[in-house]
Amino acid sequence: MASVSFRKLAKSYGNVHVVNGIDLEIADGEFVVFVGPSGCGKSTTLRMLAGLESISSGEVMIGDTVVNKLAPRERDIAMVFQDYALYPHKTVRDNMGFSLKVRGIKGADAEARINAAAEMLGISHLLDRRPSQLSGGQRQRVAMGRAIVRRPKVFLFDEPLSNLDAKLRGQVRTEIKKLHQAIGTTIVYVTHDQVEAMTLADRIVILRGGDIEQVGTPDEVYNRPASVFVGGFVGSPAMNFARANTSGGDIVFANGDRIPLSAVGSGAFADIGDREVIVGIRPEHFIAADGSAVVLNGQVQVVEPLGSDTLVHFSIADAALTARLPPEVRPVAGEALRLGVEPSKIHLFDAKSERTLA
Ligand code: ADP
Repeated sequence: MASVSFRKLAKSYGNVHVVNGIDLEIADGEFVVFVGPSGCGKSTTLRMLAGLESISSGEVMIGDTVVNKLAPRERDIAMVFQDYALYPHKTVRDNMGFSLKVRGIKGADAEARINAAAEMLGISHLLDRRPSQLSGGQRQRVAMGRAIVRRPKVFLFDEPLSNLDAKLRGQVRTEIKKLHQAIGTTIVYVTHDQVEAMTLADRIVILRGGDIEQVGTPDEVYNRPASVFVGGFVGSPAMNFARANTSGGDIVFANGDRIPLSAVGSGAFADIGDREVIVGIRPEHFIAADGSAVVLNGQVQVVEPLGSDTLVHFSIADAALTARLPPEVRPVAGEALRLGVEPSKIHLFDAKSERTLA
């Protein structure tokens, strides 16, 4: 097991900069997930750590060693890809054993490692099959098994669940979390899916255009997003945003609704003065019941009953918002809507920089 450090790590192709000098310390045993939209530099960062991509500048360290110049197989890492990359003509046992054989680990030792990994992943009964005789989820477990048997210092996962259907994705996600709990090896994991990031990570690194936008635990990035980008990326349905002004100690919305700043974000924004702001409210922080201290007035656009909740899409002046309300709440499109808000859960961002004002 080992820590991982990025020191001003950068990658460019010609004059196109795809990773812009990122700094990050990943602790020994930590599960860190890189998340962000397509093209933000996640895979490139992971591939530089793996040694599959050259480094333009900066350093990658695994433990105390700068690995910039080391070949992938000298880095003592194991990588799991989305396309499994199993040998089609080898059995599961031989797929899992191959990397051991290459490293001179044979016989009873290899057998014990393969059996232990197979048991951990629930694939002991599949050891004599070939990949074509397995489902997608089983193949992904074999790919993980092949990584585990090597007992590397660091596991790297590049979108490992992308090729699985929604139900399997959930199952294998749970497997990966169990695996980390069982073996405790450092994991660096890349995904574009914020649910995977939230459910798996000890810490999430949100990348945007080759820069780190925010690093934090899932709770931190959900409860204290550093920017409109993070607020909108983490959480589903996404955080709502509405432009407003602060004036006379209140947030004043375009429709004239006011919320006292002293109550917003538990007082974190009390001193921001008069300015243009972007107000962020999560769908789950609206309250359908009357009697809330803080109320917004909108107009219902579309109602989506989900069984467990009702999603109500509504407008306040020209802002489009979504509220997640209890299932029995069924407003009608076109109606006026009065919704309470938990003021402590409201976020405020600067209208220009889009960074938090907290
Ligand atoms: P992500 O994994 O976040 O989707 P990538 O790390 O794969 O993003 O890519 C980051 C950016 O680098 C993208 O804009 C991509 O087009 C660009 N890129 C990747 N590989 C090359 C290459 N070989 N030449 C030029 N640009 C590349």
